[in-house]
Amino acid sequence: MARTTGFLFNELYMWHNTGMAALWYPAGLKVQPGEHAENAETKRRLRNLMDVSGILDQLTDIKARPVTDEEILRVHTPDYLAGIKEGSAAHGGDAGEATPYGHGSYEIACLSAGGTVAMVDAAVGGSIDNGYALVRPPGHHAEPDIGRGFCIFSNIGIAVHHARHVHGIKRVAVVDWDVHHGNGTQRVFYEDPNVLTISIHQDNWYPVDSGHIDQTGEGEGKGTNINVPLPPGSGCEAYIGTFERVVAPALRRFKPEMIIIASGFDASIYDPLGRMMVTSTAYRKMTRIMLELTDEMTGGKLILTHEGGYSAAYVPYCGLAVMEELSGITSSIEDPFAEIVDGSGGHQLYAHQDDVIKQAASLADAVPPG
Ligand SMILES: [Zn+2]
Repeated sequence: MARTTGFLFNELYMWHNTGMAALWYPAGLKVQPGEHAENAETKRRLRNLMDVSGILDQLTDIKARPVTDEEILRVHTPDYLAGIKEGSAAHGGDAGEATPYGHGSYEIACLSAGGTVAMVDAAVGGSIDNGYALVRPPGHHAEPDIGRGFCIFSNIGIAVHHARHVHGIKRVAVVDWDVHHGNGTQRVFYEDPNVLTISIHQDNWYPVDSGHIDQTGEGEGKGTNINVPLPPGSGCEAYIGTFERVVAPALRRFKPEMIIIASGFDASIYDPLGRMMVTSTAYRKMTRIMLELTDEMTGGKLILTHEGGYSAAYVPYCGLAVMEELSGITSSIEDPFAEIVDGSGGHQLYAHQDDVIKQAASLADAVPPG
């Protein structure tokens, strides 16, 4: 079924400067300067592949706008915002933990959060059925008072507050398929009964000691946070099983008006910063499940906003599969890696993975009904 799918990109996203590093470790006297893992290339190559495949021309172009300080302050502390502004106006710095940024990154981070906000506006306004915001810097690790894991502002946190404030949307579900724990989004909404946060991630990876299965929300938000800490090495069946047995029943109980996916492609089989085995075929199936869940909602909206993903070679094919599924358009390009990665061993569901999904499924059954 063809759908009207929005796509958002801005060249300035590519100009956010994370400096010289080895993977994520800053260059220095003991670390030869190389390219930081969170660089522009994975994102640029995804957009380029969409262009070459012909799909880009068939999507609805959505424009980003910078968020205001007032919008940022719905999530972040004044001191944190002031620090980012000051550093960005000078020569940059580190927003807290492993979050290097350069001159002008405040403005770019405002445009990144604003890209997620613009996609929410387009979806709620009815000009698109669903949409993908290919934003940068990412946002799901950013906490109210500290930047973490390459994330400066909580793009999703700001967008959810915007949806609530401007559009009167009450109930939102955030599904995070990035390989790392969505600690920032979890913290922002931990006591909020109207935002269901689900993070599927590699067990105790990044941040360390974060994303445990017993973190289920607090106070009025009890039961509205689900972590699925899958063991390293989890493949396609573990991921699809998580969506079928945890995400789907949780969303059916919670009944959100809007679903936002924190879309990291670092659970992919070729990612240097994760140890999972997801293929473009599995990302396509996960997207299909999310579309089916959205179709079950009355007037439901599905928005994806970009997070991690560090394999410059493979991220583009994972992203293209998601875009094809979202839009119902089959492009001219097939994933050249599919035969090898889908045919590899290790994709079946192992007992130690099934144990985690079982525990998370019982949490899904206990989500406060909407
Ligand atoms: Zn990640």
